[in-house]
Amino acid sequence: MDSLDFSTGEILVDKTSTGKERPWEDKKIRAEITAKHFEEAGLFSKAKRMDQCADMLVFRHNGEKLKLHQTWFCKVRLCPMCNWRRSIKIATQNKKIVETVNEREKVKWLFLTLTVQNCSAEKLEDVVQAMSKAFNGLTRRKAFKTAVKGFFRALEITRDRDKEITEKRFKTNPGYYKRQGLGVGSENPNYGTYHPHFHVLLCVKPSYFTRDYIKQSDWTDMWQRAMKVDYKPIVHIQKVKPKKEIDSSELEKYEQDFKNAIKEQNAILEVSKYPVKDTDIIHGKEVTPENVETVLDLDNALAYKRLIGYGGLLKEVHQELNLDDGEDGDLVRVSEEDEMANGIFEVTARWHIGIKKYVIEKE
Ligand SMILES: [Zn+2]
Repeated sequence: MDSLDFSTGEILVDKTSTGKERPWEDKKIRAEITAKHFEEAGLFSKAKRMDQCADMLVFRHNGEKLKLHQTWFCKVRLCPMCNWRRSIKIATQNKKIVETVNEREKVKWLFLTLTVQNCSAEKLEDVVQAMSKAFNGLTRRKAFKTAVKGFFRALEITRDRDKEITEKRFKTNPGYYKRQGLGVGSENPNYGTYHPHFHVLLCVKPSYFTRDYIKQSDWTDMWQRAMKVDYKPIVHIQKVKPKKEIDSSELEKYEQDFKNAIKEQNAILEVSKYPVKDTDIIHGKEVTPENVETVLDLDNALAYKRLIGYGGLLKEVHQELNLDDGEDGDLVRVSEEDEMANGIFEVTARWHIGIKKYVIEKE
C-alpha cells in the first residue's frame, strides 16, 4: 500500500511498488465461490475455513510503506486466496535460490515435463502416489545423478472438461483423433478425466550438453520404466529459454550477459507458481454439479500431499537460506516487499460480504 490517504470506511486499495494493484478482492471473491462448492460437496469444515480466509487484513506502516502485517489464512489446498500467497512465496524463494546457485556455480537450467495417461477420478489418488514414487526412482538413476545437480518439482492436475472435440483441440493432434475415427464435434472420449503431471526445473552441470547428455527418448524411457507402464508417456525436456517480454527501459543499464541472466530468471519463475489454478477447478461463478465433482475429486487426491518439492543442490540452498515451507508455512510475509520491522501505525481492513470489498475499519 503506497498511498497514505485512506480513512475509515474507504475501500482498500493495495498496490505494489510498481503501481500494480494486489488482487485481494478478486481472490477473496474466488475463495467465497470455492467455499460454496466445498459446502455443496459436504466438506463443511473446509468450506467454513475457506469462507473466513483473510477476512481481516492488518497492515502496518514501517515508516515508508504500509505492509501486510497480520491476517488469518485457511491453508486449504484448493483455496484461491492461499494459493495466490503460496505462488508469490514460492516464486520469491525460487528467485533467491536460482540467484544463489548462479552466483556460486556454472550451471544450466532445463524444464522437464513428465506426464502419464489421463485417468478417472477413482484412480487419481493411486496415480498421483505412483508418480511420486516414480519420480523418486527417476532421481536415483545413474544418468540423472550424473547430470543433474538439483531440481524443483511441482505436481499439477488438470481436468479435461470439453464434452466435444473442439476445432482447437483437433488441430493440436489431428492424427490422434483421426485414428479413433473422431473429428471436430465428436464426443470427447477423455471428457471428465484427470491429467496429473510434473513440471520440473532441473539445474544441470554444463557437461549435460556434452558427455552427460540425456536424449529426449532416454528421458521418456527412464520415466516409463520408473512409472512401470506399458505405453510411452509424453515427456518434454527443453532448455530454459530467456523470456523476451521484459521491460526494456529497465534493462538498458545492464550488460548483455546480465540481461540474459535476468531473462532466464524470468522464464524460471514461470514454473515457480503454485500448481493449483482455481479457475481450472471452478468454471464460472455458479455452483454446478461438474464444479462440485471436481472439488471433491481434487480435494480427495491432494489431501495431505505435498505438491512441490526440492532436491539436491536446490534443496540444500533452500535450507541454507533458511527459507520456510512455501506450501504450508507463513503466508503473511511472502516476499521481500512484505517484510518489515517495527510498525508505527496500523490499518485494518475487513471483508464486507455485502458489497464484496475490503473496507478500512480503523487506523
Ligand atoms: Zn485460504
